[in-house]
Amino acid sequence: MILPELGSAIPGGRVLEITTTTGCIVGCSYCPQDKFAHRQRRVSHVKHLRLEDFKRCLARVPTSVDISFAGYSEPWLNPDCTEMVEHAYARGHGIRIFTTLVGMKGRDLHRLQALRSRVFVVHVLDDGAYMNSRLVGDKYLALIRQVVDIASIRFIVLGEIHPDIAGIIPAEALVRARPLSSRGGSVDPKVVEARQPVVGALTCVDGRQYRNVLLPNGDVTLCCMDFERRHVLGNLLRDEYADLFEKPVFSQIVDRMNGTDGFLLCRMCEYAHPKASAC
Ligand code: SF4
Ligand code: SF4
Repeated sequence: MILPELGSAIPGGRVLEITTTTGCIVGCSYCPQDKFAHRQRRVSHVKHLRLEDFKRCLARVPTSVDISFAGYSEPWLNPDCTEMVEHAYARGHGIRIFTTLVGMKGRDLHRLQALRSRVFVVHVLDDGAYMNSRLVGDKYLALIRQVVDIASIRFIVLGEIHPDIAGIIPAEALVRARPLSSRGGSVDPKVVEARQPVVGALTCVDGRQYRNVLLPNGDVTLCCMDFERRHVLGNLLRDEYADLFEKPVFSQIVDRMNGTDGFLLCRMCEYAHPKASAC
């Protein structure tokens, strides 16, 4: 999911985003998930994150880390997603949910309604400009009607909302935005042009180097921009969470953020700001 930007407004520190599956049938044109799927399949044949592997990975993560169901695909394309949410919630993690509802069933929504998530954002389908509007059918509309009853839920549309949905969602709960992030230059430049690279030392405005992404094979990438697996910090099926930040890969990222030469995804990222020099 490409919207955890909205989670920036939520106070708190570290977040682990969960990519529950490789490949996303929603196929938004402002999302480079095909590049992610291509890169991921070259290193692993695990398509869906297995529930048992999710539990093994989570056992290594302190409960102070929020778990965000977002990542590089629609989370509910994995049929075990609701059970993963419940498991993380039962362990005491703060829960963040970002979904298009594609793949979700009414009974999933009932189960999610029973727990208090810190963030619940629905990325609603647009009028077909960037998304496949054929996904808007009777079942999808029934889910939208059900989801509006969840307290504190928010909706976002990138572009114009699909006309069949417009009348269901209360205007005050809907955020309208435009696709603005090139995902570190991974998005088709015809949709979002890449930025000019940042030179020298930089900072991430949201400290997203601590909002990492778990992949279906247990690998952990730097952040929600790293669809092309440019910085793999480690693997939670074998590494402790704290070790991810002690390994050479993360130290190198920190050095490069401080101005050392070498490839750094952040240089192409809209969330990177040049660091003011000391003199
Ligand atoms: S639903 Fe999310 S992950 Fe899937 S294509 Fe759209 S933005 Fe990308
Ligand atoms: S600046 Fe770096 S850490 Fe921050 S979101 Fe961009 S790529 Fe990720």
